[in-house]
Formats: sequence, structure tokens, C-alpha cells
Amino acid sequence: MASKSCPSCDLIHPESALRCECGYDFESGRLEGPRAPSKPGPWYENPYVAIAALCLCGVIGVFLVARTPRLSPWEKALCISLWAVMASLAVYRSASH
Ligand SMILES: [Zn+2]
Repeated sequence: MASKSCPSCDLIHPESALRCECGYDFESGRLEGPRAPSKPGPWYENPYVAIAALCLCGVIGVFLVARTPRLSPWEKALCISLWAVMASLAVYRSASH
């Protein structure tokens, strides 16, 4: 029976295993980490901070949302395009007065 052990935690897996419980990815050979990160990142990588900054400071928030590793690309695109729509509406309303 073919088996392999995880280089990260030494757990034994069948040869067909793609990923270990500890988060080690056999395909990429990297420790991806479990779903919940054990250590929170710096405040500027917090998606909530980034989205709040997007609403309050605009361009700075776009930068923060774009660089936070904790949002998927489509979530970033959604946040930034929502902000762009709100910003252009605000500009349009102030211009029409
Ligand atoms: Zn492991």
C-alpha cells in the first residue's frame, strides 16, 4: 500500500492525498495553512479595515483592498467597483447642483 508522510507534521496519508490536515499541500509542496490563520495579520490586511477605509478615504481604501491577502480577487473587484459606482454617483450629484 502506497503511503506518504506529511513533511510538515509527519501524519501518514495515502498516496492519493492532495492536502494534509495541517494545511500542507502535497501538489504545490507548500504549507498553505488551515482555513483559519493561527496568527492574525497586520491591521491593514484586515478586510474590514480595508472596506471601511474604502468608504471613508476612497483612494487609500482602494489600495488597502487591493493588497489585502484575505480577500479573493473577485471580492476585491466587487468592493472596488461598488466604491467606484458610489464615488461617481457622488461626483455626478455634486456636479448637477
Ligand atoms: Zn501535515
